[in-house]
Amino acid sequence: MRVVLIQGDITEQDVDAVVNAANSSLLGGGGVDGAIHRRGGPAILQECRLIRAGAYPDGLPTGQAVATTAGKLPARWVIHTVGPTYAAAEDRSALLASCFRESLWIADELGAKVVAFPAISTGIYRYPLDEAARIAMRTVRETPTDVDEVRFVLFDAKSLAAFEAAYDDVF
Ligand code: ADP
Repeated sequence: MRVVLIQGDITEQDVDAVVNAANSSLLGGGGVDGAIHRRGGPAILQECRLIRAGAYPDGLPTGQAVATTAGKLPARWVIHTVGPTYAAAEDRSALLASCFRESLWIADELGAKVVAFPAISTGIYRYPLDEAARIAMRTVRETPTDVDEVRFVLFDAKSLAAFEAAYDDVF
């Protein structure tokens, strides 16, 4: 598996699946979630509502992932996953790792070969960037998958630098 790190906007990526740092409501939010719904259009929200009405009436639990259409995005699917909010007093790294693992499992089920990830939990959920980057990188390395390319799409230079450092540590 190839791991690619770039600075950019995940909604513009020509990949099979884009991972969304969603919240458990699946009904939209700020940050990357807002950008995906804005650019992807209402078809994504429509499927999210069906998922809420069916398998997850109480919302998608933290650390889990589900797929929908990507609507008007260049990607074919959006894989929604819910990262943990950061808490200094509690180690939530297993939940963050689970987001990456579960998203890759869903990608395998879909047959997605190129998958773009944002820096899950490092925005509104305040996870320290260096820590989150290392967890992301370690989990991607350790998860058996048929995905050919994991593309981390970092929104700013600081996030890109943190993920590059994590890449050098882990690979
Ligand atoms: P969370 O609630 O999981 O912290 P956020 O969306 O607030 O999710 O932030 C996660 C990361 O996604 C942050 O680094 C943020 O800068 C970044 N981000 C925001 N918009 C985009 C985008 N369009 N493409 C890629 N990354 C984005």
